Amino acid sequence: MQEGTIGLFLFFWGIVLFAIGVPLLTYFYGKRWYCSWVCGCGGLAETVGDPYRHLSDKRLGAWQIERWLVHGVLVFAVVMTVLTAYTAFSGEAEILGMNSYSVRSTYGFFIGFVFAGAVGTGFYPIMGNRVWCRFGCPLAAYLGLVQRFKSKFRITTNGGQCISCGNCSTYCEMGIDVRWYAQRGQNIVRSSCVGCGVCSAVCPRGVLNLENGKEEGRINDNPIIIGRDRAELKL
Ligand code: SF4
Ligand code: SF4
Repeated sequence: MQEGTIGLFLFFWGIVLFAIGVPLLTYFYGKRWYCSWVCGCGGLAETVGDPYRHLSDKRLGAWQIERWLVHGVLVFAVVMTVLTAYTAFSGEAEILGMNSYSVRSTYGFFIGFVFAGAVGTGFYPIMGNRVWCRFGCPLAAYLGLVQRFKSKFRITTNGGQCISCGNCSTYCEMGIDVRWYAQRGQNIVRSSCVGCGVCSAVCPRGVLNLENGKEEGRINDNPIIIGRDRAELKL
């Protein structure tokens, strides 16, 4: 606000992009338009962090921690943004007993410095190359919600062709057990998938395809497929 017209311009377009541009692009392309094509953190992960991508934890417990953490940071970021906007327009320092400056400082130190900086990149050799993207990034959480529930993007799988070699799961940097889906012929519509395409590239059988298509049939909780058109085991 202190910058006058340019400040208001940036503020306005920030809100328009967040509310309209981001969900629209995610609807058409999935979160890869940002996480894999634009984001600087993603660029660092795909270059410096690439040798460590196979270290991402694939266990169910890691997935549960991931969901709690990343959505917790998203809530924290929303609260901080509302407080900041309120104090900017009203001139009041506090709302409901919460001091805007303290909340911003806490976020800046614990999330911005410790989580995104020290842990998010320093732990590549221990936790894989997308630590921050997977466990902490609030924008990734927001994009992920749109991708999961309202998007054309999916990874299709041909279960009948899968030989269960596990290459796809090993090299998924987001800790997705891709093989589990491939063996069932089930589309992958996970909110955490950044659409890097490596699972598809390392599959020796051409089982996996990154696609944008109609929303109908996108989410298919298919049974185990023994031969694609013949024997299906419904559970
Ligand atoms: S495209 Fe494949 S390897 Fe990349 S994040 Fe998605 S599931 Fe994992
Ligand atoms: S890499 Fe391909 S063949 Fe190997 S487990 Fe994954 S989907 Fe199946």
